[in-house]
Amino acid sequence: MWLQFIELNQFRNYKSLKLELGDARQIALVGFNAQGKSNFLESLYLLAFASSFRTASLTEIVQWGSTIATVEGNFGYKHNVPLSLKFGIYKNGKRQAIVNQEHQKRLSNYIGHIKLVCFTPKDLMMLTGQPSDRRQFIDLLLTQSYPRYYSLLQNYQRLIKQRNALLKNLKKRTGSQLAQELDELDSWDAQISQLGAQIIKRRQVVLTDLSRLLHGTHASVSLMAEKIELIYRSNLGEDISQMGLSDLEQSLAKQLKAKKTSDILHGHTSVGPHRDDLSFVLNGHELKFFGSQGQIRTVALALKIAEMKYLSDLFNEPPILLLDDVFSELDIKRQQALIEHIQQPGIQTFLTTTHLEGPVQRFFNQGSKILHVSGGSIFQ
Ligand code: ATP
Ligand code: MG
Repeated sequence: MWLQFIELNQFRNYKSLKLELGDARQIALVGFNAQGKSNFLESLYLLAFASSFRTASLTEIVQWGSTIATVEGNFGYKHNVPLSLKFGIYKNGKRQAIVNQEHQKRLSNYIGHIKLVCFTPKDLMMLTGQPSDRRQFIDLLLTQSYPRYYSLLQNYQRLIKQRNALLKNLKKRTGSQLAQELDELDSWDAQISQLGAQIIKRRQVVLTDLSRLLHGTHASVSLMAEKIELIYRSNLGEDISQMGLSDLEQSLAKQLKAKKTSDILHGHTSVGPHRDDLSFVLNGHELKFFGSQGQIRTVALALKIAEMKYLSDLFNEPPILLLDDVFSELDIKRQQALIEHIQQPGIQTFLTTTHLEGPVQRFFNQGSKILHVSGGSIFQ
């Protein structure tokens, strides 16, 4: 799929922008620092996922002094009918989500229409950062892959929130009220086990495919013969790799029960997919502890290419690719490896850089669109 037209209004430093891209596949956004290059990519990311790759507080996106920021885009597909999306964020936090001129009450009906892979220097940190960064990565990929995953995750997170509130109350209870609320906890736990097991299973399945793809892309990007594995780390305390859905559900129910007393004491739920992690193992050693900078960069790059391949294979059409300042982080060999992959027919790539040089410059000279970004305006 590809973006054909985009309009921004009061979006960060863009007062008003209308950009016609037609069938362009390689788009470079070139400009000095602080001109609006990343803001442009962020708008496309927001349109796809109703979230930002830079901030958790979406109201920051609204142009200073304005009440609403909007982004609107028309997309072309190889086989499907064209799609038009609009997303708005008000200064007071309210949102507006429109698909083909129809307002969507639920974000679960909005997110997932656009398949998009975003690569920023922050992705390098994802590999070595917090487990929540890695869960976010896998959840975003699943949100694009399975239409029901987003609402499954939302429902699960809501249950965990309610359970945690109940745990905090339980600590203060005694007598019959305690017994009654403990029964209530059991009924939460049955639902949590059911939804939690589905989340774990989905993540496991997608990771099996992604791990296989990563193996191939890593071999092509790495300059050394290294073996990379991607493993799902559940906190259920047993080997879940061969478990079916009902075994997972039982195992989660058992653990919730086993941890009940300490969960009440601490006021939060200590087991379940909201505490799970992914681990990248290079030549048998955990990457985040033992990987060199170069090895981490190579895995991050290989993972992004694997993610693109995964979505391409699943939908029989490549996703849109956003590359924010990544070439400056890669050496010439890895730049060339990335270019080889984005040269595949049909992939629409948006790349930001302060100056085009080296292999990237050669690539972006052949019939691609080079846009100059300056002070919240874009010049062709
Ligand atoms: P770099 O090369 O340094 O990454 P960039 O071109 O990617 O630069 P952006 O991050 O896109 O820069 O744009 C940053 C500019 O946008 C800054 O000057 C910042 O002050 C401005 N900006 C950010 N949020 C808002 C907002 N809500 N309203 C107006 N301007 C904003
Ligand atoms: Mg930037």
